[in-house]
Amino acid sequence: MSQHVKGVVVREKDAPATVETIEIPDPGPGEAVVKISACGVCHTDLHYKLGGISDEYPFLLGHEAAGVVEQVGAGVADLEPGDYVILNWRAVCGVCRACKRGRPWYCFDTFNAAEPMKLADGTALSPALGIGAFAEKTLVHSGQCTKVDRRAEPEVAGLLGCGVMAGLGAAINTGGVGRGDSVAVIGCGGVGNAAIAGARLAGSNPIIAVDLDERKLGWARELGATHTVNPKTDGDPVEAIRELTGGFGADVVIDAVGRPETYKQAFHARDLAGTVVLVGVPTPEMQLEMPLLGFFERGGSLKSSWYGDCLPSRDFPMLVDLYLEGRLPLDKFVTEKIGIDDVESAFEKMHSGEVLRSVVMF
Ligand SMILES: [Zn+2]
Ligand SMILES: [Zn+2]
Repeated sequence: MSQHVKGVVVREKDAPATVETIEIPDPGPGEAVVKISACGVCHTDLHYKLGGISDEYPFLLGHEAAGVVEQVGAGVADLEPGDYVILNWRAVCGVCRACKRGRPWYCFDTFNAAEPMKLADGTALSPALGIGAFAEKTLVHSGQCTKVDRRAEPEVAGLLGCGVMAGLGAAINTGGVGRGDSVAVIGCGGVGNAAIAGARLAGSNPIIAVDLDERKLGWARELGATHTVNPKTDGDPVEAIRELTGGFGADVVIDAVGRPETYKQAFHARDLAGTVVLVGVPTPEMQLEMPLLGFFERGGSLKSSWYGDCLPSRDFPMLVDLYLEGRLPLDKFVTEKIGIDDVESAFEKMHSGEVLRSVVMF
């Protein structure tokens, strides 16, 4: 029997996010219905609302969630009702060319639920990143459910489902930061600050945070930045990063903004043969013009990080355990807990930089 629950929907471009009744079908083969406990508000939800990701309205927003499995479909062997899970948008297929090469974090054919969730009038919904978790319940592929220790509060655990994983992974998985590496992070929102927490966890030093907003730099210090640079008062961030790294530049520079100007800063603020990681997402009209010779002369590697190059089944339980051991302060990312009616105002707060994360509680 399908069920009816409340969910946050955007019906058309620029329309406000509204709470509506949605229909959740029974799980098909390989699928699961998950009762959502908490779901963070991510920039990607705002991008969906504004039409920046696709035009397949109406969208069911929300994708950074933790909850409890309620029902599983036929053939689901590794999940059962009552399991506590973080939802992920990388349910790897195991057979695509990336999976076959042993690099499943690049999987090009990830799983989602086959049957659509619907509005009351029968219109099919497009769930954000194949999840749609600003809802009391959602239907996903069982591979999108990663079991973790239930002692981690859902408002904290859920954040690993997207933004915090993207930042932690940009540092640890993509950037390969390690003990004693100098690291600089440009842009200290949720993703950038998670990269700082990742660098701290890995034992990097110094860890330099760059942002124009003092409030974000305050969060960066709490999450492990050893130095902060505010270009408004401290001048050119490239010079500042070089000065803090013996005149050379950082071993790894992470661009968590994703604009041509910040990318150039990251490029020039790294040491010779250093690494740049792009994790901030540029918009389609952005162009980069730089002398090609500079790329050769400076050597090293220029990488992009998709979802922190994470493998949910490997990374989520490990990061939750590190949180429970007190080694990764994931709770510091939760600025406020809100209700399902407050998503629209949370978008405004996120846009103005007032919050690191607002989390909808169910
Ligand atoms: Zn695959
Ligand atoms: Zn997200």
